[in-house]
Amino acid sequence: MSDGRVHRVVIVGGGFAGLRAAKSLRSPAVQVTLIDRRNHHVFQPLLYQVATGLLSPANIATPLRTVFRRRRNVEVLLEEVVDFDLVGKLVRCRGRDFPYDTLVLAAGGRNHYFGRDDWEAVAPGLKSLEDATTLRRRILSAFEAAELEDDPEAREAWLTFVVIGAGPTGVEMAGAIGELARSILPREFRRISAARPRILLLEGGEDILSSFAVELTRAAVESLARLGATVRTGCVVTEVRPGLVAFRRGEAIEAVAARTVVWAAGVKGSPLGSVLALAAGSEVDPSGRVKVLADFSLPGHPDVFVIGDLAAYEATAGRPLPGVAQPALQAGAYVARLILARRRGRTPPAFRYDDRGSMATIGRNAAIAQVGRFRFSGFIACGMWMFIHLLFIEQCHNRLLVLAQWLRSYFTGARSARLIEGANGEGEVLLGSYGDDGVRIYPASASQAASGRSRPVGAGASTDEDGGPR
Ligand SMILES: Cc1cc2nc3c(=O)[nH]c(=O)nc-3n(C[C@H](O)[C@H](O)[C@H](O)COP(=O)(O)OP(=O)(O)OC[C@H]3O[C@@H](n4cnc5c(N)ncnc54)[C@H](O)[C@@H]3O)c2cc1C
Repeated sequence: MSDGRVHRVVIVGGGFAGLRAAKSLRSPAVQVTLIDRRNHHVFQPLLYQVATGLLSPANIATPLRTVFRRRRNVEVLLEEVVDFDLVGKLVRCRGRDFPYDTLVLAAGGRNHYFGRDDWEAVAPGLKSLEDATTLRRRILSAFEAAELEDDPEAREAWLTFVVIGAGPTGVEMAGAIGELARSILPREFRRISAARPRILLLEGGEDILSSFAVELTRAAVESLARLGATVRTGCVVTEVRPGLVAFRRGEAIEAVAARTVVWAAGVKGSPLGSVLALAAGSEVDPSGRVKVLADFSLPGHPDVFVIGDLAAYEATAGRPLPGVAQPALQAGAYVARLILARRRGRTPPAFRYDDRGSMATIGRNAAIAQVGRFRFSGFIACGMWMFIHLLFIEQCHNRLLVLAQWLRSYFTGARSARLIEGANGEGEVLLGSYGDDGVRIYPASASQAASGRSRPVGAGASTDEDGGPR
């Protein structure tokens, strides 16, 4: 019940969940402090289009201050949260502490390498704008290096792209690399204009896009094939190092010489989840997500909530909420309603997840969508995909910019955001040609790949955002 004092809500994380919670806390009785270590909100579903030069980073990111410029009860702080004092009710940042009456943790997730974090340098994932621009640099640099390369075998390695994990992110990424190659190689390159890049999509499980109906996954495989991407299922990656990816398929070990590797095989909760769970005496699941109660609060801590990708929320018995945007948005709105209702001494109805379907796109005119009993593919699914994505991008001008880029690319094949940025762009290409020991890497034999420190990543490793419907 309200005591007349302004209630302080600290929200950690300005992703889908935290942003929606802050937007929904529209009451002068509540003072919101939104803390994020980045000054912007990122529309993660379009990161792959930044990574493949279709969109610029700024098209899919919005400064958090801009979002809340008209909201007097919201302050935005650029800080990194490192710890929590649940007794003193403090959020501890690198710089200072912030007191709260209610805490909402929405710190999202990060790439999960299943114990092989050393693979990250070679096979970056796609979670942030930095990841997207790193991948963009590597993908574009690979085409440039192939153009310079005289040795056919080495050129082939430059033109081989391996995407590990065939959930929606992996599928979209593989399709987008194919689309990029198709649009730039014949027109803009001279020496490799006729080359057909090899795009390999490796999946540990038996199916790609496991949350979609079989006929849709079949349509996705066909669309990928049209873009030059080959799907290999049942492949458990055992080694990733500069210039080489090895995987086990049944009893056989295979190795591929590839300069560009993308990790899309799984995500796990932000380390802040474990920090909070330790402070609260709560549990985290094997993916590092914090186990929450039916109202997203922590057991024994009704004033501490965890939402979004970081929450392990059991929607129905044994079925957790998927780590995608809709549950994050709905949880953000629900927790805001709950906080405001409590201030008025009321209890809102229990949270019910409204599953609005899942979709993925695989290049131009090729997408799949599953909404309840209905399934769509091809042009209709593509239209639905575009409409939904435009709807959820922050800020009208970003929506218009994205739409303009999509239309331009659709009609002309142009990709205007193809910048190789970063001081080490060139160095990365050159260094990437060689192994750790400075020895040039050529396609390795199976026995070579099998030796060394190989440790398999679990089959069916695509989890969370790649495992759940979207
Ligand atoms: C490449 C990709 C494609 C995707 N495509 C789709 C899709 O098509 N459809 C779909 O529904 N979902 C998609 N998803 C999943 C969806 O983006 C996530 O489910 C959603 O972003 C989760 O929202 P969140 O608020 O929990 O976390 P996030 O959006 O990850 O936000 C977390 C925020 O917390 C901040 N933060 C983290 N740690 C700290 C700290 N210590 N201190 C301060 N701030 C911190 C971060 O900077 C970030 O802003 C995709 C995800 C990825 C990565």
